Amino acid sequence: MANSLQTPLLHLNKAHYPVTTLGPGRRIGLWFQGCALTCPGCVSQDTWAFDGDQALPLSVLLAWCQEAASNELDGVTISGGEPFAQPAALLALLEALRDWREAAGLHFDILCYSGLPWRRLQREFAPILALLDASIPEPFQSRHPTRLLWRGSANQPLIPLSPLGRERYAPYLDREAERRPFQVVVDSERVWGIGIPGPGDMERLEQQCAERGVRLGAMSWRG
Ligand code: SF4
Repeated sequence: MANSLQTPLLHLNKAHYPVTTLGPGRRIGLWFQGCALTCPGCVSQDTWAFDGDQALPLSVLLAWCQEAASNELDGVTISGGEPFAQPAALLALLEALRDWREAAGLHFDILCYSGLPWRRLQREFAPILALLDASIPEPFQSRHPTRLLWRGSANQPLIPLSPLGRERYAPYLDREAERRPFQVVVDSERVWGIGIPGPGDMERLEQQCAERGVRLGAMSWRG
């Protein structure tokens, strides 16, 4: 099992369990901190800065995953930010998750988002892709909205990468969502959403809050 002495620190924006809106079943969600892609319309601009202060040893994150999920999970979804901007940490995380999965006899899948083009991921990050069960790559394009499940824009494919990934994701490759799955989480400092909002959803939320006398402070969909 990986430990903090052998692995780099991981810059994380947030972690949550259970996540039910970014992949099938009840999942752990891990959002990496740092993204230089600046896709127009990105609703996660709080993940862009590379000077995020939440750097933690991989062993600490893994222990949190194991305690939070209590071995009852269907998958882990890694998003961001741009996970592939921290390739050493991402590789170490995937190795640790797979070690845990095997040692505990679990069957959770590992899905990883990326804003990088699929061809570039294949060219530069093959050892990382080999440890994933599925990926949703390509930059978010707000001018190409979609109802495809778990996708932000129509150019983003869902790509199974392992036998488990092919088995689990086959029913969802072209499935469209009637209503976009979206969770709202409240912690001591912020209210945040998990899922893929549609065009104008965040502005509507902002307006509805204002109509009820709730003024939002810093918003991740505004720079
Ligand atoms: S949509 Fe994703 S890849 Fe694009 S800027 Fe936002 S966090 Fe980065």
